[in-house]
This record gives sequence, C-alpha cells and structure tokens, in this order.
Amino acid sequence: MPTLFEKIISRDIPADIVYEDEWVVAFRDINPQAPVHVLVVPRKPLVNVAEAGPEDAELLGRVMLAAAEVARREGVAASGYRLVLNNGEGAGQSVFHLHCHVLGGRGLRWPPG
Ligand code: AMP
Repeated sequence: MPTLFEKIISRDIPADIVYEDEWVVAFRDINPQAPVHVLVVPRKPLVNVAEAGPEDAELLGRVMLAAAEVARREGVAASGYRLVLNNGEGAGQSVFHLHCHVLGGRGLRWPPG
C-alpha cells in the first residue's frame, strides 16, 4: 500500500509543494512546529535511514542538498535552521517514508528534548 507521502508525490493527496526535482518533493508540514516547517521526501519510498543501503548514498545526499535549497528559498539560510530525520517510532517517526524536516524562523533550543 502506498504511504501517505507517496500519495502526495503522485498528487493523489493535496499538499503545499515548495520545491521538487528529480530526486525529491518538498512540501509544508500540515502541523507546523516553526514558522518554516517543510518536509523533504525522496520520490523513492525508503522507510528511514536505518533501512537505507549503499545504493541509497546519492539519494541521501540529494535529500540534504534539497533541504539546504528549501532553507534558502524559505529565507532561513542566514538565520539558521534545523534538519531532523526521526528514525523509528521511538524517535517520533509517524510516517514510514523517509523525510527530512526543515525547521526555521524561530529560536531552536538544544538539546531538543
Ligand atoms: P514524523 O513524525 O517525523 O514521521 O513526521 C511526519 C510529519 O508529517 C509530521 O510532522 C506531520 O505533521 C506531517 N504530516 C502528516 N500528514 C501530512 C500531510 N497530509 N501533509 C503534510 N504533512 C503531513
């Protein structure tokens, strides 16, 4: 069964898409935790980083590069932003299709808690 994010990528479910390329689609999180909260999702439905293999090395790099491009487009590159990949249920992963959260536009504490 396709994941929710596959349905967004195929345009079966609407989303506010802010960036896309050959590798990824990026759209605004429906429940934003910061003024800028975008999810960068690879077109390939990889579950998470733990499930990635050496064949996914370029894909993982493309997700990071796309996240940096999203941050530039969203105007948070200079002020700073956070990239988060929740890996597994215990870490808060709720959609099992790898995605990188791009969070910015407010102060972000460390450690995240
Ligand atoms: P995670 O908890 O790391 O798996 O992140 C999943 C994220 O997907 C959450 O931040 C949700 O708010 C977000 N989300 C769930 N459904 C949608 C949707 N239809 N469109 C955009 N974001 C969504």
